Order: sequence, then C-alpha cells, then structure tokens
Amino acid sequence: MGNETAAHYVRSVEYTDYARRLMAHSSLADVAEYGRVMEAGREYPLFRLTVPGSRWLVITSGFHGEEPAGPLTLAESFAEIVAYARARDVGLRVYPCINPSGFEVGTRYNRSGEKPNNDFLRYEVAPGTWKGELARGESFLRWELYDGGPKETRAVRADIVRFPAPAAALDIHQDNYLSVAATYAYTFGDAAAYRPLMEAAASHASVIRNQKVDENHHTDGDGLIVSHDGSVTDYFTRQGVPYTAALETTTRTPLASSHAVNLIWIRGFIDLAARGGT
Ligand SMILES: [Zn+2]
Repeated sequence: MGNETAAHYVRSVEYTDYARRLMAHSSLADVAEYGRVMEAGREYPLFRLTVPGSRWLVITSGFHGEEPAGPLTLAESFAEIVAYARARDVGLRVYPCINPSGFEVGTRYNRSGEKPNNDFLRYEVAPGTWKGELARGESFLRWELYDGGPKETRAVRADIVRFPAPAAALDIHQDNYLSVAATYAYTFGDAAAYRPLMEAAASHASVIRNQKVDENHHTDGDGLIVSHDGSVTDYFTRQGVPYTAALETTTRTPLASSHAVNLIWIRGFIDLAARGGT
C-alpha cells in the first residue's frame, strides 16, 4: 500500500467486498454467520472463521471502524495464518470485523453512534456500585458478564461465551489519536511472553515506551499497558486465559507496516497458544 495510511485506505472498502474476501477462505475454514446487525437501513452479516485444533486462539478485530488494518490483515493473510496454526495444531476462532458499518465508512462507532468496544464486563467496586472499567490498581468485589451494550457487542459476546476459554486471545486495534507511526499493546500476564513480539515489531514501527497514550494509560518500558477496561481482552483474562493482548498500531503507520506488526503478533499468539494454557 506504499505510504497510504490505513485510515485513508478504508474509504474504498465496501463491506460486501470484504465479506466476499472472507467467503473466499471457505476451503480453509468454516466461515459462519454468528449474527446480523441493522445499521442505517442496511443489514450486515457478522462472520466467524473457525479452523479446528487441539489448543485454541481467539482473534477479534474491527471493534472500532476507523481501525481497518486488523480486519484487512486477517482477510488478506488468512491462508498464511491458517498454515502457521495448522502446523502447530492450534485451532482458530476469528472474528475479523466486529463493527462492519463503522468499518465501511471509517467511523469509530457504528452507524447508530453506539460504541462497540468494551462492555463485556461490569465490576462491583463497592456494594451496589458497578463500573465498566477499573482505575489502575483499583480493587473490586466481583465482576459479572455484562448483558447490554451495542448490538455488535451483544452479538459477538453471545457467540464468544458459547465456547470454552481458549489458550490465548488477541484483539487487534489501531490508535487513531497519536500522530506518529508507532505500536504498543494492552496485555495481561507475563510480559516476558510479549517482549519478543514487541522487539520484532520494532523493526516496522517505533514502540511507544514509557509514554502516555491517552489521559489514563501509560506504556511501560516494553511498550505494554495493563488496564482492566471491560474489553474482550479483560474478559478473557477474567476467564483465566494466560495470554491476552489488545495490539495497537497507529493509523498513521503505513498499512504494510501495520500488517507486518499484526502478523508478528498473530504468529506469536499461535505459538503461545501451542505452548500452554487450556
Ligand atoms: Zn480500537
């Protein structure tokens, strides 16, 4: 894609074209519809791609519509991803484009203006007081699976919870706020597992280390952030999944570089799933 940024590229992607690209992988995976959403008078089918294996990796992407790199990496490199997973007997459950109406027009939220990210969990922080997100180090009494939220979130959450917890879970995002080509990640568990991935990614985008990425989140020296934000990543962590991450490349990053970083983490998470967990 040369210097074209992902944010620019997205405007040319019709969801029907994207869906056709997914369907083209039917010989490699079970391509199933897990739901449909109505947005702006149009019906959007929601797809899950499943490849069997003995240990499982769940990949989610496209919660935010202005972050197209993840959905595009998954559609374009799916054959390569499947080959890598098969060789390690890792099963894949891939939700490549969770917010199709946002993806199509390049808006963060869906066409109704709902915010599909997070909203998997609620935390009771004091008797009767519930929050969707914990501040850093904040304690809580218990958590519950949330049952409301935007239609895209309800659809994907209902499908995800039907299956046993995987061995690893990777959620692919982009950061549309920082004005540089860069990468960082929200992770839980042993940072040593993610350090080699970030080091490999560093040759494609600069790693945001020891820096603020927004009002509430700072990276550590490895480019990692721990945040119990009620996201799908947080949900899998609460399920006891040992390896969980939400990967970020900025939308200022050339799309080819975002693809390279995404593939490093996808292969890395296949390796982590093969290594252990449930
Ligand atoms: Zn995002």
